[in-house]
Amino acid sequence: MNLPPQLTELKARLYEIYDLEMTAALLNWDQMTYMPVGGAAARGRQLATLGRIIHEKQIDPAIGRLLEALRSYEESLPPDEPDAALIRVARRDYERATRIPSAFAAELYQHMAASYDVWSRARPANDVAAVLPYLERTLDLSRQFAEFFPGYEHIADPLIDMADYGMRATTIRQVFAELRQGLIPLVEQITDQPPIDDSCLHRFFPEEQQLAFGIEVITTLGYDFNRGRQDKTPHPFMTKFSLNDVRITTRVNEHDLGSALFSTIHEAGHAMYEQGITPEFEGTPLASGTSAGMHESQSRLWENIVGRSLPFWQHFYPRLQATFPDQLADVSLDTFYRAINKVQRSLIRTEADEVTYNLHVILRFDLELALLEGTLAVRDLPEVWHERYRSDLGIAPPDYRDGVLQDIHWYGGLIGGAFQGYTLGNIMSVQLFDAALRDHPDIPQQIADGRFDTLRAWMRENVYRYGRALDTDDILRRATGRSLDVQPYLAYLRRKYGELYHIAIDA
Ligand code: ZN
Repeated sequence: MNLPPQLTELKARLYEIYDLEMTAALLNWDQMTYMPVGGAAARGRQLATLGRIIHEKQIDPAIGRLLEALRSYEESLPPDEPDAALIRVARRDYERATRIPSAFAAELYQHMAASYDVWSRARPANDVAAVLPYLERTLDLSRQFAEFFPGYEHIADPLIDMADYGMRATTIRQVFAELRQGLIPLVEQITDQPPIDDSCLHRFFPEEQQLAFGIEVITTLGYDFNRGRQDKTPHPFMTKFSLNDVRITTRVNEHDLGSALFSTIHEAGHAMYEQGITPEFEGTPLASGTSAGMHESQSRLWENIVGRSLPFWQHFYPRLQATFPDQLADVSLDTFYRAINKVQRSLIRTEADEVTYNLHVILRFDLELALLEGTLAVRDLPEVWHERYRSDLGIAPPDYRDGVLQDIHWYGGLIGGAFQGYTLGNIMSVQLFDAALRDHPDIPQQIADGRFDTLRAWMRENVYRYGRALDTDDILRRATGRSLDVQPYLAYLRRKYGELYHIAIDA
């Protein structure tokens, strides 16, 4: 069949939306990195203007007509064919965008800006009362948002679907319950042991050398600096302006060697995913990672499964010691490896170790569902947060700053769909790594030799290149032969931490 002219026109319209979105991303990046504080008001206005133009273009009825005209062409193609995937994903985006009234989008945008502003001042002041009215409104808007997608099974589903397409609250609940059941006794067994001494990570490590070492590590992993760069921000993130310009940020704590290092590897993991997408997808809605969970599977794979493994440090530790000869001369590889894998009951999700991390996420997910269902009132949230920390992590925050005020998510976005991707990503990271190992059993030896090309090429072939052309479950089943499965992840944790803590872990 000849290429229909409507496809050319559709692509031209999608490129325009993409260009505007990437421009907004650039303005955002600049705001987070180099913009002087005086620029804030104008930048907020510019981003609002761009957001409005983007939404207008997304819901232009002309796109709907083109998609309708392309239906028979799409059906004539195998679903894997890039044009078929493009039309399918463009239709999904169009149908979503047109359900959101412009007036609602504008109100949401304004409310989010105000809510974020209040939260950014309330958190350091521990002023939970200041955010509660905003949180009430956010919950209200989140429910309204869900109502634009009638026919859902659970009210959180439309919100979850935005981040992790195809996922449902009931499925995630079951998966998380199974995971929690495995994690709680594991955490108990580990924390019954004498704590690991990680003082070697808390000596003085000057920023300049930390940054240089981090760059050496991620360059070796395969982050392409010809198509990326790294800058400093208080909260690290990845962003992109095209598939050939995928940037990351980091922050350095001179008294915590792990902080910059592992967050740098994490963000580089996100970036390598984007850099590995099929170049021909550039400018279209396919040119992006397929879901929050799949994205996190890659950041966590490189950060934890690779970056906190013994083979990785067999290669890199002598280099780290050469970078910090005074600080690390008396620290053995084994001591260092144990320090970077210390498990402890803690309050802050982003600083949590691999074993306890998911308990932080599951608890937030449960609270989101309860809020949306109406079984938990916003005014009770701060105290219920404390109760859940006591029951799940055996520790409770001394204040709200490290309690309900700790994450930006509910203050800069909707309630629902904000957290599950982190844990779905952890689960998938092990499924994908195990599948790569089945194809290439020598990957651990390669890692010990400082070679990451086989693993990266496998991820590129099985995950990255598809962009959004395949959905999460399709990628997972093709790459691993299975859908989402908690057990390999639990097995990985039991194996690794059983060894680290010299204990026989009950299965
Ligand atoms: Zn991440």
